[in-house]
Amino acid sequence: MNIGAHIPSKNAIEEIKSRKGDTFQIFISSPQMWKSPKPREDVDVLQDYDGPIYVHAPYLINVATPNNKVRHPSRKLLKDTCKVAASFGAKGVIVHGGSVGEGGDISVGYDNWRKALEHVEDTGMRVLVENTAGGKNSVARYMDSIERLWDVIGHLNVGLCLDTCHTWAGGIPTIDAVKGFKKLVKKIDLIHFNDSKDGFESSRDRHENLGKGKIPKEELEYVIKNAKTDIIVETPNGPDAQKKDIAWIRRRLKK
Ligand SMILES: [Zn+2]
Repeated sequence: MNIGAHIPSKNAIEEIKSRKGDTFQIFISSPQMWKSPKPREDVDVLQDYDGPIYVHAPYLINVATPNNKVRHPSRKLLKDTCKVAASFGAKGVIVHGGSVGEGGDISVGYDNWRKALEHVEDTGMRVLVENTAGGKNSVARYMDSIERLWDVIGHLNVGLCLDTCHTWAGGIPTIDAVKGFKKLVKKIDLIHFNDSKDGFESSRDRHENLGKGKIPKEELEYVIKNAKTDIIVETPNGPDAQKKDIAWIRRRLKK
């Protein structure tokens, strides 16, 4: 079990050392652009890193949508991201579950996910579906929908990333989320460990530093003790605040 943070991708090793983490997550292209990542110049450095490295795919990606104009570039960008992530031995590429939009048929979204995973299969990269906080037609917001998605894609090279801010704001009680995810995939691949600025089921995705937000501390502590997997903080306010968040987790692991 490794603990780390989402950090800038430039000088990543120094960045994570300064936060005292032993795993990290990076973007390898702009998170708000449709541009594919370039090959990394620091492949050797990243390959030599002794902890797992995770790559977060751009936010624009929505592989579930029935809209061709978004789904096709989403698949391409996901595949290009998986290829570059594979070049330095990343452990997984994290992608938000996406949605089928207003009035969309959610079962089409599950099938689109299957097609996207089959499209990237030959990169060998494991894709981690991350649960999301908002939207009524989101594929990976509510537990029953995540379960139905898994019926369709669970046999492929895919795992789950549980974001504690998203489960909370999305309306899955934290402890239920950990239990439900574990039941579905046996081992949760990754925890995005964030507090939330907003209330339960607020549908808002605003991360907060640990212990400073609205998620009850006992619920966060439950995740630390029971998730039994790598933990990445995606918390705000810079390197020092993230270093404190990592220390916050380590203190509770020892208790
Ligand atoms: Zn996240």
